[in-house]
Amino acid sequence: MAGSLTFVLIVPLVLIILIYIIFADQKKKKRREEEGAYQNSDFVELWKLKISAKSAVFAWRLIRDSLPTKSNLRRRQVMLTDTLCPFCKIEEEEATHLFFNCTNILPIWWESLSWVNLTTALPQNPRDHFLQHGIGKDHGKKATRWKCWWIALTRTIWQHRNKIVFQNGSFDGSKLLDDAVLLIWTWVKSMEKDFVVHFNQWSSNLKEGFSN
Ligand SMILES: [Zn+2]
Repeated sequence: MAGSLTFVLIVPLVLIILIYIIFADQKKKKRREEEGAYQNSDFVELWKLKISAKSAVFAWRLIRDSLPTKSNLRRRQVMLTDTLCPFCKIEEEEATHLFFNCTNILPIWWESLSWVNLTTALPQNPRDHFLQHGIGKDHGKKATRWKCWWIALTRTIWQHRNKIVFQNGSFDGSKLLDDAVLLIWTWVKSMEKDFVVHFNQWSSNLKEGFSN
């Protein structure tokens, strides 16, 4: 009698647990699929920009926070002499700080935002910042330039960072901005067939180059 009572209680319980496991697994699978599609949309946008594959891969790695920043290396148990941002030497070098929020870098973003009459809040992560630059919203010529600007500036920031870390260079904000302005000019020149603006004209009137 006791045995059949246990059977009557246990069978439905096992069934309920099984149904719960199957349901939770399906829910997890659906969430993974949704996240995949969400991240793929960034990737598709990047490839549409017709910049070099190397630059698109760089931007993709930054958006996914997989660049070898000191904070990412530390997480991978790599031995480091210090984890400080090479620009300010105060905060830890993690992507959002290094590329966007560092006191040395922030004024460069503010300056470029003034070309398109925008102000922005500090981003929480690289992807948010990328999205603030209009990825997926507009596909006009100036909008495309603006998306490319995000990549040109972040890529130049990373090159300057590497020069300081590996070649003992020092921070030079105006050189960084000049290099990024030159890089975006070479990209626009190769992307737009009818683009004939000389570099001097381009660099002295950036508002004209980006705003609608
Ligand atoms: Zn810093």
